[in-house]
Amino acid sequence: MNVSDSERVASSLVSKGFEIAPDEDSADVILLNTCSVREKAEHKLYTRVGQVRSSHTKKPMIGVMGCVAQLEGETLFNKISGIDFVIGTQAVGRVTRAIKSVLDHGPGFSDLGEREADYDWSVSFPQLHSPYVAFIPIIEGCNKFCTYCIVPFSRGRERSLPASDIVRNVLQLRSRGVKEVHLIGQNVNSYRPTTDSGLETFPGKTPFSRLLRAVAATGIERIKFNTSFPRDFHPDIVDAIDENENLCNWVHLPVQSGSNHVLKRMRRLHSIERYQKIIDKIRSSERDISLTTDIIVGFPGESRSDFEDTIKLVQYCKFDSAYIFKYSPRPGTPAYEITDDVSLEEKTRRFRELERIQREIQTANLQRYVGRSLSVLAEKRSAKSKDDLSGHSTCHRVVNFRGDTKLLGSVVDVTITEVKSNSLYGKGVTAA
Ligand code: SAH
Ligand code: SF4
Repeated sequence: MNVSDSERVASSLVSKGFEIAPDEDSADVILLNTCSVREKAEHKLYTRVGQVRSSHTKKPMIGVMGCVAQLEGETLFNKISGIDFVIGTQAVGRVTRAIKSVLDHGPGFSDLGEREADYDWSVSFPQLHSPYVAFIPIIEGCNKFCTYCIVPFSRGRERSLPASDIVRNVLQLRSRGVKEVHLIGQNVNSYRPTTDSGLETFPGKTPFSRLLRAVAATGIERIKFNTSFPRDFHPDIVDAIDENENLCNWVHLPVQSGSNHVLKRMRRLHSIERYQKIIDKIRSSERDISLTTDIIVGFPGESRSDFEDTIKLVQYCKFDSAYIFKYSPRPGTPAYEITDDVSLEEKTRRFRELERIQREIQTANLQRYVGRSLSVLAEKRSAKSKDDLSGHSTCHRVVNFRGDTKLLGSVVDVTITEVKSNSLYGKGVTAA
């Protein structure tokens, strides 16, 4: 979501006559986009402002956007010296006003206001992070209030974009050569627009599965979506994937813990039994859908036996990949009020143990691709070898392969020959 915010801010700045500087040293204005989901991410801001201030002789204007900006607001001016303006998560459409205010009146401008009704969610083509892949927000904010999470406070309430706007955006990107769109949001499958506009002719059991069918009908080559919220995961999503080749073989479904006690205290609104049912449905698909998740270890009160339940769940689900995090207390969240009683050493121990088990599972999973052909979007030259290209498979695996740059931007068949630690390697490329 932050990458997407940055792309839209860059697009709006360029449309208003600004130029994107080729490097940090030549910039007159530096905008730092921030994350506050864990403490470590938040600390980065303090370090970065210091770096910019000490390494630049001409003193660029510094603006802070993103979740830290929204949560800290004007207090940032006192906490970190050198910041000129602060712009909240819904105020990103007004960055030029902030820059103008600092030019006219000096530092100290902040805007934490709401999003404009006519906010432009599209990204101009040159500002996309890849010419072939685009992120498309379909829902912003979060209403779930999981007890550990700061997002509902930093990003406000859920608001779904009209399907007609989303579909128009996809069609425009497709006509510019974009091959893959990612429908994004904190909980994409909680999608609930206030109007049926754009969904009228698309059947489905939920607005999200109808949207998937509507976007699939645009004919764009590939569609991915994340993140899905387990409570709102309707089996019809899997049916939509089964029906449409361009809906990719990948579901990211964060479980957070394998213990019902912990899930309850996290207020995740799903049980392990229900989660396993969803996994069974996904696994029953004729498509080989890859499954990824997020897990927090060391949530307050997580006992050794709770943690062992998480290990059991990981062994049951055989995730293709998992982002594992140590619980990080976030001031302002309900869990912050509960004693953080799992020591840092114990969190680290559980993190390492789970990581090792997950790694064994995913390495074994990856072996199934060896000798098989995967359809891969050739996105860029590989950073490791100049003769190789790099991209993602439909199952969202990084695949590096020998190939000519002429193939960039096309979907190619790659025969997998090797499993690396976090990626696949292949050869025998032919245009798909
Ligand atoms: N909306 C998504 C993810 C939001 S944040 C969801 O509900 O799954 C991304 C991930 O960060 C979460 O899935 C969670 O695993 C992790 N996370 C969020 N708050 C955290 C905290 N306080 N400590 C550690 N990890 C956290
Ligand atoms: Fe945070 Fe829960 Fe909302 Fe995800 S669903 S953003 S974890 S509150």
